[in-house]
Order: sequence, then structure tokens, then C-alpha cells
Amino acid sequence: MSCRINMRTAVGSHGTVHTPALLQKRHDARQTLPALFCDSPGCLAPACFIAEQAVAGTDRHGPVTVPAHIVLEQGAAHAPGCRYDPRGRLHGILAAVADPGFLQTLDDGRQELRLLGLQQALKRGNATSPLDDYLRTVGALAVLRALCADDTLLAAQLTLRLGKKKVAWDGFFYPQDRYDEACERVASMSSGFPLALAGTVRSHRSPQAGSGYGPTYLNCTAQYRHGDVANRHEYFEVSIGHDDAAWLQRFPVGSEIVMLGLWRLGSSQTATRPHPQDPRRMLSTVTHKLSLRPVSKAQLIAVD
Ligand SMILES: [Zn+2]
Repeated sequence: MSCRINMRTAVGSHGTVHTPALLQKRHDARQTLPALFCDSPGCLAPACFIAEQAVAGTDRHGPVTVPAHIVLEQGAAHAPGCRYDPRGRLHGILAAVADPGFLQTLDDGRQELRLLGLQQALKRGNATSPLDDYLRTVGALAVLRALCADDTLLAAQLTLRLGKKKVAWDGFFYPQDRYDEACERVASMSSGFPLALAGTVRSHRSPQAGSGYGPTYLNCTAQYRHGDVANRHEYFEVSIGHDDAAWLQRFPVGSEIVMLGLWRLGSSQTATRPHPQDPRRMLSTVTHKLSLRPVSKAQLIAVD
């Protein structure tokens, strides 16, 4: 049950703060890297730097670059209460829930989170208690899931349930390389089920001046999928629409976010054009759009 959270910064033995970007520069310049330690208060667990690396593409995504990051050294452990300790964070989130109808402890000691109340409150659409309470808990869990490489830790401790049905973690949480599956899930559901999507902010689009009213859209980096058919490219776009542009701007381009709610799948659009190098071939691009109109500002959370 391992889950390692990448560390945003680390300290050297003299207390200097190091970021992955600065360490990458030293790495590129072939300079000696300092000994690193976790900088969460009272922790100081030994950490190590992993330089940026290229990973070959799969049928789900093109080649990707795994950015430079800092992780816990093999065999080391964070101090209890450290913000990079996933188990401690999970217990903290669950311990704060007071509503037994929302979080129930099962006979075997595992816990079960009941999402029916959240679904109903989202459908009613009034951003008051208990909706915000549900969203704070589920949002914190989704952020923790986004920080962990997989759902092993969460799934071992916490079952998700909607009414009589159990919901697998991978049927609830979708990172960028699984937006296509999120689209399929939304298309297959007769009634809306809350899903959490993780993404990176790519742009903000406000209505043009003079065009009257309209929401601002926060757009995430899309998932690109190689089609099974040559000459076919597919994009899976995810966006959040809200009238409060200033609020959406608080999530700057490049930041990681988690978006939680009842998603809507728009109709897909196909554009066809001749291949730039070989005009006899036609290229078609299919764009699928998933969008969310939050009823509560607790539906959009920065990953930290
Ligand atoms: Zn730590």
C-alpha cells in the first residue's frame, strides 16, 4: 500500500529551500546536488531529487515529459502529521466528518463514504450546508487521490457507495489521461453521478466585450488520443463555466486542480482538413467536451 506524494520544496542541511526547478538547473549544469530533507514543520525526513525525464507514448497519450520532482528517500518515512504523509492526511480528513449518514465505519474497521446525499444536494443546487460540508470532505479526498500515484491507499481504507451500489475509485476519480473514460461514464449514466476530475489549468476565456452576458470558462489541458483509425485525432476537453471570472482566475494557468460535480457531456465536433504534407489525405479531428457549472465554489479545489 504505497503512496508517495511529491514534495513541492525541500530544505538543504543549512536550511536553504530548494525547488524542483532550481535543482533541475543544477543537475543540467552537472553541479553537486545538496542533501535534501522534507520541509514540512517538524519532519526533516530525507528526500531525493528525480530529474525530468521523457516517457514514450501509449495509445492513450502521446510522449510525455515527467517533470522534475522531489520524493521521500527509499526506506525513509515522514513524521506523523507531515502534510506529505498520505495516511495521516487520510485519517485527518475522515476524523473531521461528524455525520454518520455520510461516513460509516464498517465491521471490519474500514470506512464507507455515502455519496447519495452529495448527489442530491448537487441536484438541488443550493450551495448551503450540508452541500459544502460534503464537498469539503470529498474534495479533500480527491486532492489526496490526485497527489498519490494510484488509488491503492484510498481504496484499502475507504469504500464509496451510492445508494445500493458500490462505486470503484477509478469510476469516481479521473486524471487527465482518462478524460475519455470520464466521457464514456457520463454518457452511460441516466442520472447524474458526482465525478472528480483532476487537471491542469490551460486558459481562461471570458465573454467578449459587448457580447452581453455569459459565463467565463476555465479550460484544462485536454487529453489527446491517437485514434484507432489513421488520420483521426481525438481531443477530450474539460472546462468549468462560472459567472464569477475573478474566482476562476484565482486558479492560474499551469496550476493543478480538482473539479467535483455533476458533469455534462456536450455533442462532439468533427473538423476535417487536408493533411499539411500530403493533401490527398484528409485529417479529421474529433473534439469531445465535458463541462461543469458549479453551484458551490467548494467544487473547484487547488491541489496542494
Ligand atoms: Zn515530511
